[in-house]
Amino acid sequence: MAAPLLNGIALLLALGFRRNRAVLVLMVLTFSSLALAGVVASEYGDQGERGTDAARMFAPWLLLAAAAMPERALLARRNLILLLLLAIAVWLTLAAPAHVWPGLRGALPFGVLPWSAGAVAAALTFVAAGACVLRWVLHGAPIEAGLAIVLAVAGLALLPILHLDGARIAFALAGAGALFAVLYTSYRMAFVDALSGLPNRRALDEALARLSGIYALAMADVDHFKQFNDTHGHDAGDRVLQAVAQQLGRERRGRVFRYGGEEFCLLFTGARSREAAKMCEEARVRVEAMRVRIRSAPSKARRGQAIKRAEASEVKVTISIGVALRDEATRHAADVLKAADQALYKAKAKGRNRVVAPR
Ligand code: GH3
Ligand code: MG
Ligand code: MG
Repeated sequence: MAAPLLNGIALLLALGFRRNRAVLVLMVLTFSSLALAGVVASEYGDQGERGTDAARMFAPWLLLAAAAMPERALLARRNLILLLLLAIAVWLTLAAPAHVWPGLRGALPFGVLPWSAGAVAAALTFVAAGACVLRWVLHGAPIEAGLAIVLAVAGLALLPILHLDGARIAFALAGAGALFAVLYTSYRMAFVDALSGLPNRRALDEALARLSGIYALAMADVDHFKQFNDTHGHDAGDRVLQAVAQQLGRERRGRVFRYGGEEFCLLFTGARSREAAKMCEEARVRVEAMRVRIRSAPSKARRGQAIKRAEASEVKVTISIGVALRDEATRHAADVLKAADQALYKAKAKGRNRVVAPR
């Protein structure tokens, strides 16, 4: 019963985290693993065979549909249709009398295809996995990579070379994979900033809470960024924030976080003021030297002059950085953050594009 249990738990988690496509996939996988476990077909005494038939006949089509659909509200019309089809599959598996079942098996196209039912089922499930890989490449959402692996393993489970026990084990592995994928993507949602890919403010708070001893904390802020957005548009602003994040992320001796908006934090454990200031200065120079290719949205003024097309151009930005240290006088993380913010304020007041650190 490991397979239904693992898939069922993953299903509940996906429901809780509102991963609706994962919910659909896991409903089908839970049904399939229950069918293979003989639970949904006990009435007619042909559990093993009927379970394998049910998994091979119904699951691949439903998985393919779930993988190909966009992420929508759980009770959106398309999802409801899929849920209805799943309900019909469950009902047929449970309620179709024994003499009807072989005829039903022929009703799906497996009978007329030259391959055996298991091979067709596996091939369809592999195509569903391929659809998720494609989405992952296009959109980069980690849940797609997870779903692709889960579906590929489910495809293996349906292969005719696997006997019932092998299929059950493979479905259990798919369930375990789904569990991991849902948990991991939810962890990412909580602790990783989607735009920059850097750990977020919550991750910084947790890192600071765990730290003791000496560390330096730097607060970096993009200069005149409001004006940048006004001139080039919000999308170009996002692109530049990604580029700044990438430059800051190149720092191997410290950890970089997106604190919020156009503000980033650099955390140097064990570092003293001079080293931290040096590393921040290097980061500042890297950002200053960077050129970002953007498509500028026409500003309000230029829109007035009827310039309609977005123009490609190269832009640059600068950052100001304030550094603070955790020491005897400033022990609490909140105080260190406040001190870094004050140092940043000084860097801005002194003319921006500079690092201010304690001596
Ligand atoms: P200063 O040099 O003093 O830091 O000036 P500033 O304009 O950078 O500072 P301010 O805090 O006034 O403006 C920050 C701007 O950053 C406002 C907001 O539109 C922009 N911003 C915050 N988050 C994002 C984001 O995720 N994407 C984009 N494109 N802009 C953002
Ligand atoms: Mg700011
Ligand atoms: Mg700013």
